[in-house]
Amino acid sequence: MNDIRDLTREELATELAAMGEPAFRAGQVFAWLYARGARSFDDFTDLPKGLRLKLAGRFGLRPLEAEGVLRARDGTEKVLFRLRDGWGIETVVIPAGERRTLCLSTQAGCKFACAFCASGGHGFKRDLVPSEIVGQVLHVRASGPGDLTNLVFMGMGEPLDNYDNFVRAIRILNDPEGMGIAARRMTISTSGFVPGILRLAELGLQVNLSISLHAADDGIRSRLMPINRRYPLAELLAAVRRYLSLGGRKITFEYVLIAGVNDRLSDADGLARLGRRFRAKINLIPYSPVEGFDFRRPSPERTRAFLRRLEEKGASATLRRSKGGDIRAACGQLAGRF
Ligand code: SAH
Repeated sequence: MNDIRDLTREELATELAAMGEPAFRAGQVFAWLYARGARSFDDFTDLPKGLRLKLAGRFGLRPLEAEGVLRARDGTEKVLFRLRDGWGIETVVIPAGERRTLCLSTQAGCKFACAFCASGGHGFKRDLVPSEIVGQVLHVRASGPGDLTNLVFMGMGEPLDNYDNFVRAIRILNDPEGMGIAARRMTISTSGFVPGILRLAELGLQVNLSISLHAADDGIRSRLMPINRRYPLAELLAAVRRYLSLGGRKITFEYVLIAGVNDRLSDADGLARLGRRFRAKINLIPYSPVEGFDFRRPSPERTRAFLRRLEEKGASATLRRSKGGDIRAACGQLAGRF
């Protein structure tokens, strides 16, 4: 049985119409589910009892179950959810001044096996359905102080490889009768899954797109990211070009700096060229340690020199301070277990 939160408002309206209900019911149900965070059909107190029973007979409504929360010294929190079939996923809450950003998972495990990332370490388990993606936001919103200001789809999994569920989740989160989170406050990160980028381009959502680039040449990129053998840089960049030409917002290139692998000044030159060519913002992320991998992050001096070189070459770049390292909540450390 589908969870009722697997449906967009339009889909719910169609279902309700088939049940003989008037059109405005979908908005009412959405308000209960998302604006007010109802956790059971009994909570829908201004809806007729008969309708509540019908809904309960037709759909599930099962909030995600948090198995535990870890809190880092810097205030970052990691929530481990246990899915109904036993798999674990993680969500990270990142406070930064006035902002409170949520880093969401879209799959349990990951197929893409990037050499530096923990999420692919135990293989792929399954796609998350919309209620499991949206459920992460509902849970954190209900449990924490303050509003969530930004959503980043940068947790476990490859959002564009779970395209339909992921887009449905965005529509639900974005819906003005539900949570009303603006698309421009959402960022999608992709390892470079070209078919997904092309579909996203056609859709024209005003979300932010981040490309996990990590190398500006095919040799290094293919060694780090197996996906590059399927969709090499030329194809990836053509897809990015198309995305921008169809009205996509400015993009970001993410670049994990790994000592001795992609941190030479000549690497910075190649990256700066791409940054300029696509008017992209470059986000440098010093490698976060992952158990069992023997990569290292470059020294702070070398990192600064890399950043300076990008700036000298006219690229727009920032250094991301990865948070939550002491609870394994930093970029690339999510493995679905504590
Ligand atoms: N699959 C998507 C979404 C995950 S985003 C993607 O690849 O973009 C997670 C981000 O963290 C990506 O940019 C990823 O490359 C980066 N990352 C992975 N492992 C890391 C590590 N060990 N240190 C720092 N960043 C890492």
